Amino acid sequence: MSDRLTRARAAIEEAGLDALLVTNPYNRRYLSGFTGTSGWLVVSADDALLATDFRYWEQVGSQAPEFTLYKQEGAQAEWLPGLVEALGGRKLGFEAAHMSVAAHKQLRDTLAAMPAPKRPALVQSEGLVEQVRAVKDAEELDALERAVLLGDEAFNDVAGRVQPGWSELRVAWEIEKYAREHGAEAMSFATIVGGGPWGAMPHAYPREMPLEAGRPIVIDMGVIVDGYCSDMTRTIVLGEPDAKFQEVYDIVLTAQETAEATVESGMTGGQAHMIAQNIISEAGYGDRFGHGLGHGVGLEIHEHPRLGRTSEDVLADGMVITVEPGIYLPGWGGIRIEDMGVLENGRFRNFTTAPKLRMVGA
Ligand code: ZN
Ligand code: ZN
Repeated sequence: MSDRLTRARAAIEEAGLDALLVTNPYNRRYLSGFTGTSGWLVVSADDALLATDFRYWEQVGSQAPEFTLYKQEGAQAEWLPGLVEALGGRKLGFEAAHMSVAAHKQLRDTLAAMPAPKRPALVQSEGLVEQVRAVKDAEELDALERAVLLGDEAFNDVAGRVQPGWSELRVAWEIEKYAREHGAEAMSFATIVGGGPWGAMPHAYPREMPLEAGRPIVIDMGVIVDGYCSDMTRTIVLGEPDAKFQEVYDIVLTAQETAEATVESGMTGGQAHMIAQNIISEAGYGDRFGHGLGHGVGLEIHEHPRLGRTSEDVLADGMVITVEPGIYLPGWGGIRIEDMGVLENGRFRNFTTAPKLRMVGA
């Protein structure tokens, strides 16, 4: 953890802050190791403090050995001043994206009641720890790769058994059941299964609807292992695909594999997106792509960086990203193919092993 704290402290200093109040639960876990659902961190150049309540006092001591623990007891005005008074007069950033308006008001009121010399100045900040989290360390890469492999196993098991007549819901459940029985803590998100025209919606929720032969079926899924998410999409077909499927699938596959082969550290998320976008546009389906090429993955399913047309996020070694172009044709269906891997020595190294369909003759 200490390397994470070191990197976070550098980001806090670079943002012109003296300390950061961390309320994003994923940031809290990332920096401290504490997995409880409630707690506040204060990270400054000299201190790493963690305040949580009675439910976690036993757990937190073993999970967050690098942090000085504060017990939250009673009203906020009773415990919070002790947590921040060493920062009197200095700048305390708060995570604007992870504090409700009501919580912010309460925090301001609590600080306002403190004696002026002990009161820190509250400053809005955004994305500081999230930026640090974008570049994964060895322990995280290991967990992410294990999550991907378990997800692949669950997919392969179900893709090998699914038949026309199964409902979309059954496909989702069989995948989730396999994953949970083989060590997943949870799914990264509600499994997406879209058969036929339903798959034209990129985030199709599974229905009781039976799957039909010859239609595209989009399956987008992920599992959580040691807190880390996987994310993978395959489009399959039961029986013989029609000519349209073969045409569209091949365009998406070419865009996807070209993007994986040519994306580089140092590119912006926008430049990466355009590798796939250009191929899909040249094939005449430019307006049927419609979402970004991918995203970072880690403790959360969607993390920094963003790979999309307008993204100026700069890709860097150690980032774990997805590559997931798609083509969506209302009334017909969708095709999306998604892998997840790490940028390493400047290039994309794929974690995903689940097979992709190969068109005969392609
Ligand atoms: Zn996905
Ligand atoms: Zn994704």
